[in-house]
Amino acid sequence: MGITYSCLRPLHPDAARLFADLLLQKYPRLVEGNGRLARAVEIAGHGSAPIRIGTDWPGTYEVYSLTRPGSYYIVDPRRRSCTCPDSQKGAVCKHRLAVAIMTIGPDLEDEHQYRLARERNSR
Ligand SMILES: [Zn+2]
Repeated sequence: MGITYSCLRPLHPDAARLFADLLLQKYPRLVEGNGRLARAVEIAGHGSAPIRIGTDWPGTYEVYSLTRPGSYYIVDPRRRSCTCPDSQKGAVCKHRLAVAIMTIGPDLEDEHQYRLARERNSR
């Protein structure tokens, strides 16, 4: 039986920026990341360089390179790791940030909708 890959749907670029801003509010030191957050926004909102659910290890993501087509890095949020050279040097790399933006976004959006609905109902 073959392996099926599951792609995360790319975010609208505006949504990717919004979720990056929310991350930045929570973790202000990310701004020291040497442009990594801006690159992560690019990855999260990019239609042709998908982020896939990792197939080799449960709970991981494969983040495809925008500069080297076909190659990807494996992000493991629980271990706070990525297989790229930047991460090996101890940085919170753009791939980890891209996964954070992709995975935190929809939840925050849901929460926002939930709160709006509650406010409407309590009037
Ligand atoms: Zn990385």
